[in-house]
Amino acid sequence: MQLACSRRCGSGLFRALFAEVDLDASGDYQDHRVAQPGYVCLNCGAPAFDLGVVPEEMADEAEEEAAAVMVMTDILCPVCETMVQVGDEMECPNCGAPLEVA
Ligand SMILES: [Zn+2]
Ligand SMILES: [Zn+2]
Repeated sequence: MQLACSRRCGSGLFRALFAEVDLDASGDYQDHRVAQPGYVCLNCGAPAFDLGVVPEEMADEAEEEAAAVMVMTDILCPVCETMVQVGDEMECPNCGAPLEVA
């Protein structure tokens, strides 16, 4: 398990929302089980999630975010005259020539 705050506040403490706690006759904690996944950050109260088992939708969101950050540009390489798509690296993926975004 690798819990992380969805706001990335850096807190290392979380609370399981759906946990069953085993007690002895005097009410002392013995053991617990997480009945279903669901965690909050104890520091900022934001939902937390298990990086070990990232839900599908979270993974999709992360991918979309990553795609949005990478602004792809179509450029005609002046060296090899190939229409290439470049992100933050201004280099022709085809021939390695440095490119300038017009
Ligand atoms: Zn937090
Ligand atoms: Zn090129």
